[in-house]
Parts: sequence; C-alpha cells; structure tokens
Amino acid sequence: MTRGRIAAAGSALLCLAIGAFTAPPAVAAACARQARFAVVVHGGEISQQTPENGRLEAMRAALAAARTQLASGASSLDVVETMVRGFEDSGRFNAGRGAIANADAMVETDASIMDGRTLNAGAVASMLHVKNPVHAARLVMDAGRHVLLVGDRGEAYVKSLGAEMVPESYFIKSISAQPEHGTVGAVALDRCGDIAAATSTGGYDAKIPGRVGDSPIVGAGVYADDAVGGFSATGHGEYFIRLSVAKDVADRMRYAHQPLAAAMKADIHERLGAYKDADGALIGIDKNGNVAMDWNAVGMFRGYATDIEAPVVAEYAGPTSSRPR
Ligand code: ASP
Repeated sequence: MTRGRIAAAGSALLCLAIGAFTAPPAVAAACARQARFAVVVHGGEISQQTPENGRLEAMRAALAAARTQLASGASSLDVVETMVRGFEDSGRFNAGRGAIANADAMVETDASIMDGRTLNAGAVASMLHVKNPVHAARLVMDAGRHVLLVGDRGEAYVKSLGAEMVPESYFIKSISAQPEHGTVGAVALDRCGDIAAATSTGGYDAKIPGRVGDSPIVGAGVYADDAVGGFSATGHGEYFIRLSVAKDVADRMRYAHQPLAAAMKADIHERLGAYKDADGALIGIDKNGNVAMDWNAVGMFRGYATDIEAPVVAEYAGPTSSRPR
C-alpha cells in the first residue's frame, strides 16, 4: 500500500466501524483520479437448487464494506483480497474453512490473485493447511519470483512467506451428496483506474486428490488487465482451463472490441455451451466500470456495487449487469 492508500484505508475502517455508507473522506491524490469504481463478487455457480446458506448476506456485507473502502481510495488489489479472505473465513462457501472435501475426505484448496496494473499474479494449489489461500496467493505475487506454488513444497514456501497454517480439523469438510460448488471470487476497479481479480475454491465435487481446477490458473479462472477488464470464474474447471475462458473474454474485448457482456456471453453460452457438462459462470468488470455476471446453468450467487449503485445480491433470476456507464 502507498502511504496515501494507508491513510485512505484507515478512513475506510472508521466508516466500517460506523457501519453505514457515508460520503467518502478526502482521498489521497494518487487515488483521486476518477470518481468511478466498481466491485463484483460471486459465491459459486448453481448447477441445481442449492441451499442459500447465508451466502447472500455475507456477500452483501462484503460489498458494503468494499464500497466504502473503494470510495475512500483503497486499492482494488487490497479490496479483492480482503473480500475473498472474509468468504474463506466464513465457512459458508466452498473456499477456505468451508471448502469441500476431495474423494479422500481431505480439503485441498486452490486460489489466485491478479493485479491488472502490472499483470503480476500469484496462485497456490493443492494446499492442505493454509488458512487463507487467497492471502498465500498474494504473498506469492508480492514475493515476485514465481506465479504458482503447489502441494507440500509450495505450502512450505508460503509458510516461509508468512501464510498462517491450520490443522486439518480447522476445515468443516462438508461432503455433499449433490454437486456443491460455492467457489468465491471478486473483481474490483479502484479510483486509480486499476483492476484486480481473485478466486478461491476447494475444487469440484469429489475431485481426485491432486486435481487442480481453473481457479488458480491465470487466464482460465482469473484474469485482470487494466487496459481491458478483470474476471473471476466458477464452474467445471477443466473446461475453463481447456478454453482459457477468462483470457478469451479479455481477448474478445481487446482485439474484437466486443463489449463486456457480449464477450462473456460468447464464452459462457457458446463456447462452454458446446459441451454437455461444461456448467460455468463468470463475473467481470471492464475498464469503464461496467459490471457483468453470466452463467449457463441454474444461477450464480453474485452481487455488485459501484460508486452510483448500492450493493445488489442475487442467486437465480435478477440482475446480470450494472447500470450502463
Ligand atoms: N471452478 C472450480 C474448480 O473447477 C469449482 C467451482 O467453481 O465450483 O475447481
């Protein structure tokens, strides 16, 4: 964080303590470039009727806090990490404490974070004892040398960087009788014009131990580039990897000049839609602060907020985009 951003984040914390969205305090010059900001989250795609499990309220509270922080000049990178971390700790989603168990009844988590300003990225996969996989991903990114760390040795490395370790008993380890997704993701555009994205998951139903999905794969389950937009995915990860979904959407916008919602629609409905079991969903923000959310199955736990719109959350029918800019 820059010094200006630390001061701004401090003001944001004060607003949080008060609890309501108040007019933003004076913003450090570095982050006063634009009034516009936006944030969007998902709590997993829904492939069949799924208990809501308090996810909507968790998302609404996270969006309200993020909105205050962004208004005060916090960086998109800090905001997406904080939101995803909160979802991981809540135990309500398939991420962090609430991550689903694999076929051996073990929790193995994957997560990623990407900074659209620098195209720096960090990711972890097959973590067994990391409390907050998204923070471990951030530590990998900030360390700067590598992007993706996996398994026992990756875990030892993120521990050496300061990631908190927990015993296996920390995880709730739900073994669902039905497909239970609930991967989490967040994308934000801050008042500096910077976009960041993060994704965190326990993976896909009854995955084989050692399997890694799209969530920690840059260009598949996460992507951010200030020149285009930012994205976080949920769904059948193998297809998101094979079709490089997040990067394909970004490329459609960059090279074919497709608008955000149209680019996302092409990937989620046409490309994934060509496969029988390629259920999936995506959230995105473009460089102008437009938000879109799309899915090809039953729904997606989702929500967004912008400088001009208070938090909105939904699971099935409901908004699929923000008010156009
Ligand atoms: N995409 C995640 C994975 O395949 C799972 C999900 O989003 O439900 O690991």
